[in-house]
Amino acid sequence: MRTLNWMVTLLLSVSAVAQQPADSQPTSQPAPVQMSASDQGQTAQPAATPQVPSPAPAANAQPAPPQAGPQPSTMDQVVDRFVMREKGLIKMLQMRTPVIETYLQNLTLDPALGPVPQTDKYFLGRMDLSTSIDRKDYIKDDQSMEKHLLGGFSKLFKVQYQPLGFSWMIFADRNDFDRQHYDFRYVRREFLGDVRCLVFDVTPKPKSGQGRFLGRIWVEDQDYNIVRLNGTYAPRPRNAYFFHMDSWRLNLVPGYWVPAFIYSEEGDFSAGVKNQMAFKAQTRIWGYDLKKDGQSDELTNIRVDSVQDDSPTAQDASPLAAERQWQQQAEDNVVERLTRAGLLAPDGEVDKILQTVVNNIEVTNNIDLPRPVRTRVLLTSPLETFSVGNTIVISRGLIDTLPDESSLAMALAHELAHIVLGHNLGSKYAFNDRMLFSDEATYQNLGFKHIPEEEAAADKKAIEMLKNSPYAQKLDGAGLFLKMLNTRAGALNALLTAHLGNNMAEGATVTRMSQLIGSAPQVDWNKLDQIAALPLGGRVKLNPWDDKVELVKSQPVAITSARDKMPFEVTPFFPRLTRTGTTDNSGAAGNAANAVSAPTTASVKPTN
Ligand SMILES: [Zn+2]
Repeated sequence: MRTLNWMVTLLLSVSAVAQQPADSQPTSQPAPVQMSASDQGQTAQPAATPQVPSPAPAANAQPAPPQAGPQPSTMDQVVDRFVMREKGLIKMLQMRTPVIETYLQNLTLDPALGPVPQTDKYFLGRMDLSTSIDRKDYIKDDQSMEKHLLGGFSKLFKVQYQPLGFSWMIFADRNDFDRQHYDFRYVRREFLGDVRCLVFDVTPKPKSGQGRFLGRIWVEDQDYNIVRLNGTYAPRPRNAYFFHMDSWRLNLVPGYWVPAFIYSEEGDFSAGVKNQMAFKAQTRIWGYDLKKDGQSDELTNIRVDSVQDDSPTAQDASPLAAERQWQQQAEDNVVERLTRAGLLAPDGEVDKILQTVVNNIEVTNNIDLPRPVRTRVLLTSPLETFSVGNTIVISRGLIDTLPDESSLAMALAHELAHIVLGHNLGSKYAFNDRMLFSDEATYQNLGFKHIPEEEAAADKKAIEMLKNSPYAQKLDGAGLFLKMLNTRAGALNALLTAHLGNNMAEGATVTRMSQLIGSAPQVDWNKLDQIAALPLGGRVKLNPWDDKVELVKSQPVAITSARDKMPFEVTPFFPRLTRTGTTDNSGAAGNAANAVSAPTTASVKPTN
């Protein structure tokens, strides 16, 4: 019989052993949330049972903070408190369907550079945290292919990653995180960022079942919420592995620390060790404030805005004006729909920087468009850009890895060229029926790819514009970025697979703006001040609650060897933890962004 834990924390199955179907179906077993905080050490403190708020009726109202009880005075009481807070978190998240993204790089050993990516994998889905953990994936992947390989003739060692497994790492143990199943041993106090924590080692009790959490937790010492989990699940079933994970939470709403980042890593590259698997993976969770399924919002969203028609004349639109309005309608529909699906950040700070770069190119090229160019950040990791109408969209992963402003200009110029050349005339999205699909079906319903002729024309026009722009003398950086991408393209197929726009590479060759590669300097790994591309996560910080993005302000870290460069690579997370409301404007929901700290993942600043 499969136990709940066995199934839900199963992260990958191995084909060489008779294995059960590689289903990623959620368990349908009900998961009773017990509110049993009164086992031990609680009798003297009846008031120490804070009411866990029931989820607010509207799925997207900010959750009410839990009531603070009296401070625990013994370690046992602390344990009871964080066990209860964990159940409170699970309950609060029942109404939420956040986006979850996992990007994984399988590693191989390069004698000079250490472990480097060999192949990669990408998962994107929405989690439903209502009674169990379920997820629906945005990307219909090549499961059938993998299943064929798994179940077929091959006796080779073959692993299959289970995206659901990464989703489970947001909790230590969704159902049985309590004293009956675990021993908690206090270790010490420790600061994580600005937050003082109590550190506990957690071990499952003997015979408490498979797939129990084994590791360490950090509990903040004010409300006693878990803010970080580090460890794995044990014991492991015969035909499966549990990954190691380092899971971080952020205090985005008062009283709650919500899962935001998970880093996983396996493999050992010391001499003589034979790896069965070696990979590193980043999982990011965001979109906690999204509407469930994008459908339940009809009533909450009815607004009676008194919008004045501000067109200069009171006449009907001319044919050309009507055409432009029609296109703008399509553009607005798409931008709004992508934002609702948790794929676009709301308009914000980063867009100002992007628009400045676009403006620099426009002004120096005397480009005067009938409508201003807007920009938005796609929240996902794969490197892609696309444009819809006059809105240029660039992915978080691409912004993260670009080394400097001129390479950012290079990425934006290609899309600006499409706009200038009038390539973005697909106005079919002006019909609203075309916006009626489930969030998970976004990639099947929206697409902004151009034909190869338009791609070539946009590259040509973009280079022409860049040569007139303030970036003309700095295009070496952009070329070097593309050259480095070219050297890694064969290993980074998933990172280079665009989901809405055109791919930047075909096969293992970079095609986007490839003219710039020819004139770029050679990639020199040993030249420590040559930064061709940054690791993922180095620039954009995302607030997982409201999806707002801003640029990371981390201190540059000196690069001391070629192995520090890590272009396009996945690194661990080390967010600087802060309490929400401890910034200037206390407690306001809109200020959660101030309290979010980004992963400072060995970020490097280019020297140019
Ligand atoms: Zn293009």
